[in-house]
Amino acid sequence: MRALAMSSLLALLAAGLAAASEVSVSDTGESTHTGTWECTPGHEIRARSLRLATSVAAYRFAYSGCLDPSHGDEHPSSEGNLGMPEPTLCNFYHSGFMGVLINGKDAVRYTLRDVRPLESGERGSLQFIFAHPDADVGLRLMMLPDGNHVLALLRWWPREGKSVDSVRVWLTCYPSFFTAARNRQGERHVTTPRTDQQEPTTLTLIPAEDTWLFYHDRVFDVAKGEGEGPCATLLDPANVQAGRVHIGGYAVRTELDLNPGAKEARLAFYDFRGQTNADAEAYLRAHGAADLAELTATDFRPRPLSTLDLAARRAEAEQLLTEAAEDGQTLRGPVEELFARLADLQQKATGGDWSAEADVVQALRDSEGLFYRLRIFAALNRP
Ligand SMILES: [Zn+2]
Repeated sequence: MRALAMSSLLALLAAGLAAASEVSVSDTGESTHTGTWECTPGHEIRARSLRLATSVAAYRFAYSGCLDPSHGDEHPSSEGNLGMPEPTLCNFYHSGFMGVLINGKDAVRYTLRDVRPLESGERGSLQFIFAHPDADVGLRLMMLPDGNHVLALLRWWPREGKSVDSVRVWLTCYPSFFTAARNRQGERHVTTPRTDQQEPTTLTLIPAEDTWLFYHDRVFDVAKGEGEGPCATLLDPANVQAGRVHIGGYAVRTELDLNPGAKEARLAFYDFRGQTNADAEAYLRAHGAADLAELTATDFRPRPLSTLDLAARRAEAEQLLTEAAEDGQTLRGPVEELFARLADLQQKATGGDWSAEADVVQALRDSEGLFYRLRIFAALNRP
C-alpha cells in the first residue's frame, strides 16, 4: 500500500515536471472595438493578441489595425500594428515594436490575412501573414521549453509580376523605463559583442560581429532599484546587409536592411524583466552564441507537419476500416475526404505555403475524433 502510494506520488511528480517544461500558446481570438488613439476616433479597430509562455517567461503579441474603408487596403494603427505588451509595456513597445518595410511600405499595415497558433507542448509557436501589395509577408514566433526568449522567422513571398527590391525591419524599444514620458532622464546604451554606444548617437552595425544588441539604461537598472530591466535582439547575420540603431534619450530604434533575394531572415527577442543590466549582459555573453546556433538550426515548420507520414497514416486508417468491418462503412466517406484534403494541403505546404502548413496541422487535430471512432469500431469487431 505504502509502495503504491509512493509510486503514484512519483508519477504525479513526473507529470508535473513534464508539464512545467511545456510551452503554452493562447489566443484571444478576433475582436473589434471603436477606436480612440489608434486612428481617427470612432473608426472600427480590429484587435487580436496571442501569447507564448514557458516555465520562465511569457510574451504577448498584440495586433491592432483600423478597418475603416477610407484607408483602402491599409489598416493603420497610430504607433504600429504589432505590439509586445508583455512581459513589460516598455522594452519592446506595447503598441508597435516591429514593422517590415517592403519596397518602403510597411507590410504590417496591410491586411492581416492569416493569424493563428501553430503548435504547443514540446514547442510553442504562432504565425502572422500580411498581404503587402508586392509580397505576402509572414512572421513565425516560437518559444522552446524553458526558454527565456522568442525565436522569429520572417519570410516574404514576392507576388507574381512584382519584385521585392528592399526589405527593412524596424524595431522600437524603450529600454527598462518610459523616461521622457515620466519626466526622467536616463542613460540609454546599446552594447553588442563588439562595442558599447551611449545616447544620443546612431550605432552603425557590423552584422557579422554585432550578433546581439543589448538595449539598456544605466540609470534605470534593477540593480539600482529603478526600471523594469533591459531587453535585447539576437540577429542571424546571414541575410542582414546593414543596420543602424538610433539610440535616443527616449526611444531606441533599430533598422535592419535585409537581403531582399534571401526571402527570409531570423532574429530573436529577449525581455530581461526584473533582471539587472549586469546579469542580462552576462547571460548574452555566455549564451548568445549558443542561442544564435539554435536559432539558425530551428525548423519553424510545425512538428505535426514535419513529422507527418501520410502513407503510414493512410495505411493505419485502412487497417482500422478493415477491422471495423460493417461498422466502419459509415466512416469510409469521411476517411476518403480527410486524406484527399491532407494530400492537397501537404502538396501546397511542400511549396512553402504557410497557411497550408497550418491547415495540415488543423486537419490532423480535427481528425482525432474520426480516428477515435475508427479505433472503437475496430476494437469492437476484432475476432
Ligand atoms: Zn482609421
